[in-house]
Amino acid sequence: MKLHILGNGGPRPSRMGERYGTSCVLEFGDKRIMVDCGPGTTYKMARMGMRPTQIDSVFLTHHHSDHTVDFPCFALLRFDLDPGDLPPLRVFGPPPTVEFANRLFGEEGAFFPDIVARREHPVSHHGHVERGGKLPRPDIKVEAHDLDSRAVVTGDGWKTTAVEVPHIGPYLTTLAYRIDTADGSVLFLCDAADCPELRELAKGVDTFVTGLVSLNFKEGDASHPFHGVSADISEVVDIALDGGIRRIVLIHGSPLGDDVVAKLRRGYGGKGYDGLVERPDELTTVEV
Ligand SMILES: [Zn+2]
Repeated sequence: MKLHILGNGGPRPSRMGERYGTSCVLEFGDKRIMVDCGPGTTYKMARMGMRPTQIDSVFLTHHHSDHTVDFPCFALLRFDLDPGDLPPLRVFGPPPTVEFANRLFGEEGAFFPDIVARREHPVSHHGHVERGGKLPRPDIKVEAHDLDSRAVVTGDGWKTTAVEVPHIGPYLTTLAYRIDTADGSVLFLCDAADCPELRELAKGVDTFVTGLVSLNFKEGDASHPFHGVSADISEVVDIALDGGIRRIVLIHGSPLGDDVVAKLRRGYGGKGYDGLVERPDELTTVEV
């Protein structure tokens, strides 16, 4: 499988703009599933030679905007490029994912006038037919779903399981996702902390995609404000060792130096991680 890294930064762009927000696409066979849709995702897809029409399923981990803000751009371009035979775009996430989609694309939604204009105006019809589409122009097709902890979503050759994880409660609910395919499994903990339900979900997973703060709560940083919000060295080591995970992919942060890998190797209290550790740049692809 391939893990395309579109966004590998936090809520503010890095100084030279090399990193901003979170977004990944997991590719296996002819399937592509997006996890999170942070700033510039659609533009970054174009730079990587991908098109929104290649994606039918999007999973949002939570409604911090650095994980969601490009979703309207992505869904509107997919609609614009739809010759008429695309399946609906399914978007899954914790509540209020349904309300989020309705407020973008519903009749009272921010983008509804644009959707009507593209559907109705002759110049839009012209462009649509030039791109191989048939008239009348299809409507935008977005099916949004709110997921509870333990929800399971299936697709052609894949299964995604969600569990709620600690991050910014009670303001935002956050989910981690495990995607199982015939080619392997990937756990996405894009920006959250450890919990027993996550440990259970992580059992036997091949690849663990996680945010990481370069702290060690179990060796003296336990009172840090990030404790219970984002995973640290000790939590990532525990999750990976408990789950028997052979590859960690670090996302959602600044470029992490060799010192961070050394900290994962050392771990704490004699427990360290000796599997693969990837620190991809944006616009790169990791084989998983
Ligand atoms: Zn967040």
